[in-house]
Amino acid sequence: MNEHDTEKMEHLLLKDGFERTQDVSVADVVIVNTCCVREKAEQKFYSFMGRLRSMKNRRGTILGVTGCIAQMEKEHIKERLPFIDFSIGPSSIHRIKEAIEEGAKNKLFLDFSDNGCNPYLFIKPGIMNKKAKTYVTIMKGCNNFCSYCIVPYVRGREVSRESEDIIKEIEDLAMQGVKEVTLLGQNVNSYNKGRDDIAFPELLKRINEIHGIERIRFVTSHPRDLSFELIDCFGTLEKLCEHIHLPFQSGSDKVLKLMNRGYGIKEYVEKIMMLRNRCEDISITADCIVGFPGEEEEDFNKTMELIRHVRFDGIFSFVYSPRKYTFASTLSDEVPKALALERLVYLQGVQKSITLDKNRGMEGKEVDVLVEDVSKNSKEDFAGRTRTNKIVNFRGNQDMAGRFVRVGIIKGYANSLKGELISKEA
Ligand code: SF4
Repeated sequence: MNEHDTEKMEHLLLKDGFERTQDVSVADVVIVNTCCVREKAEQKFYSFMGRLRSMKNRRGTILGVTGCIAQMEKEHIKERLPFIDFSIGPSSIHRIKEAIEEGAKNKLFLDFSDNGCNPYLFIKPGIMNKKAKTYVTIMKGCNNFCSYCIVPYVRGREVSRESEDIIKEIEDLAMQGVKEVTLLGQNVNSYNKGRDDIAFPELLKRINEIHGIERIRFVTSHPRDLSFELIDCFGTLEKLCEHIHLPFQSGSDKVLKLMNRGYGIKEYVEKIMMLRNRCEDISITADCIVGFPGEEEEDFNKTMELIRHVRFDGIFSFVYSPRKYTFASTLSDEVPKALALERLVYLQGVQKSITLDKNRGMEGKEVDVLVEDVSKNSKEDFAGRTRTNKIVNFRGNQDMAGRFVRVGIIKGYANSLKGELISKEA
């Protein structure tokens, strides 16, 4: 979500004649787009701002803060970061140019308004850097109020975008050469809930019809809102990729209740089984929080049981960190940090071996890869993704970027696959 907000701001500024540099030391303007979902990111942000302050003193750089931390700290940002020139929340990024211009006149520019139908939803960055894949925002905000999560407080309540507007944007993207779209929202499964417009499965069907689009993905899903109609789309809509990110957060019903997640593990596992029945090779990834207040050994064991039972393709796992405004931050039954960390390390070790095992199971298979760019591992290799969202590195060339190729998997690692080009046409 944040990455896409950055793309939107970049799009707006490039259109207005700004140029992007990756080197902050030569920039005239530095925009720090922030995330406050986890405490660690917030700590890193403040230390980074300290470094930028010295640079501003030396070079007079215009400094701005955008994103969730800006929104969360809206009442204190002036005191906490007195040297910045502007700060705007996620719903105001359409005002980025104005913010910079005002900041340049030494007028502190602040905007943290949250107007549900603001133009933020309608910024269409199009294709950045000739990429064949892009994100499309279909909704913003969240109504769920999971007890640990700050998102509803900083990104506001759920607002869905008109389906016709989304379809039009994707048709335009397809005309420009985009082949893969990822539909973005905090909880895409509840798209248009309570509104007189098509629901999410129908939206997928409409996108599946768009000529030129060859892959559709979406993120993020809430297990409670994963409907049978949506499950049925897998294996039926040929462009819908065989991957779902379905955060479970904990394997214990007691902890899920404390988290206010609105489902139990039985329901979660049943939905996983339905997904696998529809689509045998679907790749399933998830998020998990370890050390939530009140998590006992028995609860953690249930999480491990779930992980071993489902055999996820990957898990983003974190130690719980209390967030401002949230109900969970008022809970007293804290798990000692060292114990939570110990549990996390154990969980990650088990998951790593499951992922490795699954990736090794790919050896000898052939897959279609949408080639992205030069690999992070080696300048001679190119990287792309399978339909199941696994990264494949293989010997290729620049002509292949943005195209589909056929690759044979020769080695599975914990985080990626190594492949060999079979055909330049997939
Ligand atoms: S559904 Fe996701 S974004 Fe919404 S409150 Fe829960 S964790 Fe946060």
